[in-house]
Amino acid sequence: MKRILFTIIFLSISCKGHDNELYQLRMNMIETQIKKRGITDQTILDAMKKVNRHEYVQENFERLAYSDRPVPIGFGQTISQPYIVAFMSHKLNVASHHKVLEIGTGSGYQAAVLAELSDHVYTIEIIPELAKRAEKVLKKNDYDNITIRIGDGYKGWPEHAPFDRIMVTAAPKEIPEKLVEQLAPGGIMVLPVGETVMMQYLWLITKDNDGQIEKEKILPVRFVPMVKK
Ligand code: SAH
Repeated sequence: MKRILFTIIFLSISCKGHDNELYQLRMNMIETQIKKRGITDQTILDAMKKVNRHEYVQENFERLAYSDRPVPIGFGQTISQPYIVAFMSHKLNVASHHKVLEIGTGSGYQAAVLAELSDHVYTIEIIPELAKRAEKVLKKNDYDNITIRIGDGYKGWPEHAPFDRIMVTAAPKEIPEKLVEQLAPGGIMVLPVGETVMMQYLWLITKDNDGQIEKEKILPVRFVPMVKK
């Protein structure tokens, strides 16, 4: 009996130690990778402090979750580098009343960050296994403002359009017209676009209240390709 009790106490202490270590890694990531590179928007920093990035990566990659790079999530896909998540979220300028569409749910991490910033996030993933895993981890973390659909992101989600904000986390060769159509007046979309992995740029698309579109190329990036069905 005593031995069992001892084992339980030992396990719960070492578990706490482990959680603490991951928390420290996350705080360090925010200081050295996000703040130091100029993103000081408190809502973004708070969202990224709150979301346990290590829960979204592939098993055995927990510690790598906080390193300054993309990390595998299975099926040949990756979760974006923390700085890129912060940069894109910041550029999207999300407010709490916004309805947001994300294309490329992947691990669900970016969706969780967006759900910390906004009222509701709709997110589409083409690989069913990833969508199901993301759904599980998001449910475990009590996100009831995220809706996931398995499907092709090129079509957007007409039933819930228009969206105040759209973020695409896989790179199409050209800006998908359907997504621009589903952007609300006053809306913003951030997406990587490129013919090849070596030639991708992040674009910022804005639609003004009269429906006029402006497109701006803002950063060279490297994302997995957005696949066509
Ligand atoms: N945002 C994710 C990372 C995205 S990786 C995260 O936070 O983890 C890009 C994802 O886009 C992959 O999961 C890939 O399967 C998905 N994807 C690629 N083409 C797609 C398409 N046409 N429609 C929807 N999802 C797509």
